[in-house]
Amino acid sequence: MNTRTWLENLPKVELHIHLEGSIPLDALWTLVEKYGGDPATPTLEALRQRFVYRDFPHFIQTWVWKNGFLRQYEDFTVIAEAVARDLARQNMRYAEIFYSPPDFARHGLELQPLTEAIRRGLTRVPEIEINLVADLVRDFGPEQAARTLAMVSEVKDQGVIGVGIGGSEQNHPPEPFAPVFAEARRRGFRTSAHAGEAAGAASIWGALRALEVDRIGHATRAVEDAALLAELARRRVPLELCPISNVCLSIVPDMAAHPARRYVDMGMLVSINTDDPAMFGNSLADEYEALMTHFAFTQDEIRALVLAAIESAWLPEERKRALAASFQADSAW
Ligand SMILES: [Zn+2]
Repeated sequence: MNTRTWLENLPKVELHIHLEGSIPLDALWTLVEKYGGDPATPTLEALRQRFVYRDFPHFIQTWVWKNGFLRQYEDFTVIAEAVARDLARQNMRYAEIFYSPPDFARHGLELQPLTEAIRRGLTRVPEIEINLVADLVRDFGPEQAARTLAMVSEVKDQGVIGVGIGGSEQNHPPEPFAPVFAEARRRGFRTSAHAGEAAGAASIWGALRALEVDRIGHATRAVEDAALLAELARRRVPLELCPISNVCLSIVPDMAAHPARRYVDMGMLVSINTDDPAMFGNSLADEYEALMTHFAFTQDEIRALVLAAIESAWLPEERKRALAASFQADSAW
């Protein structure tokens, strides 16, 4: 069997993937047409062309534009089912998926029914277990984040297990969100922050010290600070790496410059993820294949990365052990 087929069949886990960045393009196209089309985007091919980015701010701008086509609760049921089917088809067995409820207040969508609509779509695909992580979206500021957190607490029964902050990291450092993260912990949520992607090492220090996060999203730019690298390795802070995303958004100049190999060799706890696969045209198999091509990762090392993702997951220890055992017993392992 060739490597590509092995990677596709391999049972896998995703910990850093955004629901709204994973909508298969045909499903997104259906929504664009539903809402009367977009003059600048007349065809499905034009839609695909839109997902090429000059820089991080341009990516955020495209993200906001795309989210403009999610206007009704039923849209979320449709996309959640489409995303879950797409992940299950790739042999993803478990995923923790970000969703960004504050982005949809502009269409009058409330967090609770929006979350229920997503869960309705996800439950139609029993082949994959999916938990949700609510992105409080740093762009709206800490006070709005606190209000969002209070609403998220009402939908824990919908499988919302954590909260995070994504968005414009370069304009919104972590420290002002410290009280919100403390409150999230009190309410029993696990926490993650995007850090060291659009901003540098200081943002990662802030996520660790001020937010006391359970995991760091990206941490790519930790390479700028040797003391930080040592700290991340010593504490085995789970890092959600998204290499192809980092290349697409020019966080690193090319795949060869990505620190994934260095982090693994330093003994860091690293998982590999796709971030926004419909917006970068990547899959988790592509991510692993890139590591094998550019950094000579072996099949054993890829298997270790999959197990590291399970270790980093926000599941009870017993459930993690069972998941790892089921992977290792799988004929595709
Ligand atoms: Zn992300």
